[in-house]
Amino acid sequence: MHEYSIVQSMLDLCEKHAKDRKVDKVAVKIGRMSGIEPHFLKESFDVFKEETACESATMEIDIIDITIVCKDCGKEAVIDSFNFFCPHCKGGNTEVLTGQEMHIDYIELKEEK
Ligand SMILES: [Zn+2]
Repeated sequence: MHEYSIVQSMLDLCEKHAKDRKVDKVAVKIGRMSGIEPHFLKESFDVFKEETACESATMEIDIIDITIVCKDCGKEAVIDSFNFFCPHCKGGNTEVLTGQEMHIDYIELKEEK
């Protein structure tokens, strides 16, 4: 369950960012190929956020599609399965551009009173 360690480092980051304030929303981007289960991540977040700057924060998850670029014909394509062949020229000489990432997009802090 590496979602737990991801959430821990995410909370650390939020804590640093928020200083003494509270976090309202954490928006994350998760690639389809990142190996992270969005609902596990969300569940872990809800468990571990207690008593941190994120205790009343919500997590918003944006799923990033897998895109590849073909080194033979130079075209880019979004693929919906783990089929990395170029849909244009059927070549296998492709490179993954997006879909492997997992990062915090932005953090929103609550209004200061
Ligand atoms: Zn191609």
